[in-house]
Amino acid sequence: MKNDLVSIVSCADYADEHCTQALLEVLEPLGGLDWVTPGMRIAIKANFVSAAKPERAVTTHPRLLIALSKLLIARGAHVTIGDSPGNFYTAAVLNRVYAMAGLEEAEALGVTLNRDFSEKQAYSEHAVQAKSFTYTRYLDDADAIINFCKLKSHGMMALSAAAKNLFGTIPGTMKPEYHYRFPNPNDFADMIVDLDEYFKPVLHICDAVTAMEGNGPTQGTPKFLGCLIASKDPHCLDLLAAKLIGLEPYEVPTIAAAKRRDLVPERFEDLNISGDWEAFRPAEFKCIRNRNSTLFVNDTTMFGRLTQKAIRICLESRPQVKTGACIGCGRCANVCPAHTIEIKNGKALIHRQNCIKCFCCQEFCPKGAMVVHRTALARMLNK
Ligand code: SF4
Ligand code: SF4
Repeated sequence: MKNDLVSIVSCADYADEHCTQALLEVLEPLGGLDWVTPGMRIAIKANFVSAAKPERAVTTHPRLLIALSKLLIARGAHVTIGDSPGNFYTAAVLNRVYAMAGLEEAEALGVTLNRDFSEKQAYSEHAVQAKSFTYTRYLDDADAIINFCKLKSHGMMALSAAAKNLFGTIPGTMKPEYHYRFPNPNDFADMIVDLDEYFKPVLHICDAVTAMEGNGPTQGTPKFLGCLIASKDPHCLDLLAAKLIGLEPYEVPTIAAAKRRDLVPERFEDLNISGDWEAFRPAEFKCIRNRNSTLFVNDTTMFGRLTQKAIRICLESRPQVKTGACIGCGRCANVCPAHTIEIKNGKALIHRQNCIKCFCCQEFCPKGAMVVHRTALARMLNK
């Protein structure tokens, strides 16, 4: 496998000198930034899922984005930083995201913070699921894309790192539509892998200095891991990221999807790693163990369907409103692609029969009131 090298180095904090040093060190085994030529237009696709202060560990840390921009500018590149949050893809929303992340300083350095909110239609003949999709057009202006993600737990996909970050190429409020188009987690993961294959970033870097555990990817708890990870391949990076936080690769649907296409080594042991990854392994990391993807089997006989339904009822995770935490803001109802949440008596009420378990409600609840509930049996079996 050509690009299976994954590099991991220490980054003690977000102090500028540590960020710069760690970036140089993590990229060195991958050939550094020698591929950057004067005049090259580079888009850094960050994770700006929502407007959040950097210390909440929701977004790629601005000090790392600024440090990388400086290194690229020093080589004569033109840098654009962008992403499409889960909210509207408009100037009002993005300006708030940039301000909360503290990125104004980047503009003073000559970095462009993307304000082109136009969209474009893609057709991808070799895609497994996303043969046609709409994406954020600013990426077309780049000669190369660098995917700079954040390591976080995730309600639907278990892991938010390199592969999942490319879902941010789908414009704003269009994202729930894609959940509705691909309600089966395996199909959704295949769609994400299609996006990775379509955009083919030249480099993937993961901010795992302070990661997010628990109710991720927006309402979890910051967790210090103290490292940066980089690779030319998103799935190899994710394989190491998953192992680092204690997830088995089969628990991450995008890694399983990449394996089905031979895009990632079959076994973690076959990964080519530069750096002592075990030194960054936390004693404990609260993951969202969600085995929904493995509950989808292709047995279409009556017995197969009945068995699958019974297994799902016993093991499938579902969204749940935490008692006393909901403020009735209605954000979950607005993002729910199945339109199955009602605000009743000032609280969110889920009509479960239509729920497709996409966990958009959990991802975008501003109060962390929507959580991923695992059944007692799943917890007992650790499924
Ligand atoms: S988004 Fe959260 S706080 Fe707002 S109504 Fe839904 S569950 Fe309640
Ligand atoms: S209730 Fe939540 S998990 Fe269910 S379909 Fe709506 S957004 Fe998705």
